[in-house]
Amino acid sequence: MSRFRTRNLEAAQRAAERRRREDEAPRLQELVPELESLRFEIEEHRAGLVLPESTHIRRVSVEHAPALFEIPCLDSWCKQGGHDITSAVLRALRARSERFDGEHACPGRTGGADCQRVLRFVGIATYRSEPGEKPGTTNG
Ligand SMILES: [Zn+2]
Repeated sequence: MSRFRTRNLEAAQRAAERRRREDEAPRLQELVPELESLRFEIEEHRAGLVLPESTHIRRVSVEHAPALFEIPCLDSWCKQGGHDITSAVLRALRARSERFDGEHACPGRTGGADCQRVLRFVGIATYRSEPGEKPGTTNG
């Protein structure tokens, strides 16, 4: 009958599910081998207003990261919410974009209503230059 226990169980199940999807996803390095670094500036909006407590920077360790970008909804009452920005991010990385941004509305529910949160992200990426492209390195 404990509500907290149920919520913890749900959270644990979601975490396990996410880990499974991350394990199954291809590695980021395989899909975008020239990617050198990647980070996101994240903020959530609600009714058009930025939620200051939601803003943060998320660094991706590109050597080990799965090609899966799911950012949890930060509303603690939100169920089945979250922001899957994988396809937008992969598209930008394959195009070697150094800076890209996007929005994603949370599809979750809080109580009896739709979750109103909208994630805004800015991705900042660097890439290794391709072999042979380096200017004038003859020695060392
Ligand atoms: Zn949500």
